[in-house]
Amino acid sequence: MAGVNAQVETVIDLDAIAHNVRVLRKHAGDAALMVVVKADGYNHGAVEVARAALAAGACELGVTTIPEALELRAAGIDAPILCWLNTLDADYRAAVEADIEVGVSSLAQLRALEAGARAAGRTAILTLKVDTGLNRNGIAAAEYPAVLAAVRELADAGVVRLRAIFSHLSHADEPDHPATDRQRGRFLDAIAEAKEHGLEPELVHIANSAATLTRPDLHFDLVRPGIAVYGLTPIPELGDFGLRPAMTLQAEVVLVKRVAAGEGVSYGHRWTAPRDTTVALVPAGYADGVFRSLSGRFDVWLGGARHRSVGRVCMDQFVVDLGDNPAGVQVGDTAVLFGGAEGVPRAQEWAELLDTINYEIACLPHGRVARRYTGGAR
Ligand SMILES: *Cc1c(COP(=O)(O)O)cnc(C)c1O
Repeated sequence: MAGVNAQVETVIDLDAIAHNVRVLRKHAGDAALMVVVKADGYNHGAVEVARAALAAGACELGVTTIPEALELRAAGIDAPILCWLNTLDADYRAAVEADIEVGVSSLAQLRALEAGARAAGRTAILTLKVDTGLNRNGIAAAEYPAVLAAVRELADAGVVRLRAIFSHLSHADEPDHPATDRQRGRFLDAIAEAKEHGLEPELVHIANSAATLTRPDLHFDLVRPGIAVYGLTPIPELGDFGLRPAMTLQAEVVLVKRVAAGEGVSYGHRWTAPRDTTVALVPAGYADGVFRSLSGRFDVWLGGARHRSVGRVCMDQFVVDLGDNPAGVQVGDTAVLFGGAEGVPRAQEWAELLDTINYEIACLPHGRVARRYTGGAR
């Protein structure tokens, strides 16, 4: 969007992505690094993040759906890509033709992949997603023997190649939770059961960001971090692990004005100026991902200091109290809502204000919010 002067934008720091990948590689030790770029790279841009991560030492990519995987291929990315959540009518043939590794969670999904492989006339790259206790996606224990028997037949016939067995943790953000050890045990059992069927996966993996950073006993052949790549901590209680937030949400001040003591501000006058003051108008609102429930509860970084939002957040705009405006904030200055720079509010603060996790905060900016990249080998 060269030349377009966005009113509200996310700025994605690809050097931060590279830094975080290096931090994760150190933790991963001998395990390979798959970077998860589902949901458009946690709303940071899947293609740009993937390129920066691969350049920094990641070797594989993980996404949710076949279309997400195909988008990366279409951008010329030839690294291994795994996707793991697809409906039965997804385009498995296109996945096979594009060398996308497909994670299956049921016999029916395996049959759909088989049909795709036969239609493409090529061997499908298969990964089994086993349920070890999350009880969400993944092959249920009762169906696992039938899936293994079918995989054995298909592998012998050259229809599929069993690349990996993987699973996902339910309590990785609570490092000492006993559920994690139970899942580890069931995971090892599932791998052993595959061997009893004559199936030897090329690799096995279970660690997300939290387990990559805190559970070396779960690293196996490959780790699969997402949120930490973007510089947000998976375990806020344990600090930031030296990660750097890659996303900054910012907007350009469109108006600065004086408000007299006793005047109410924004809809419903939920805030009244306690003294003569100066306010700045920031053109970002709930249509852009700034929840109305944050009204009057969050700060922005403006003129080298934090200033509180006052009055209601509206669809397109909110107001910030500058007091006597000692820094001389003017129209055109940049207001940072959250980001990674010194002094700037963190996405984690928004997560706490909204009673959610930082993952959801990264996914908030949408609609009119433009995206711009800095850093990287560009
Ligand atoms: C999203 C996801 C990840 C990454 O999880 P983070 O907590 O963001 O590190 C890893 N594996 C699977 C199966 C996922 O769905």
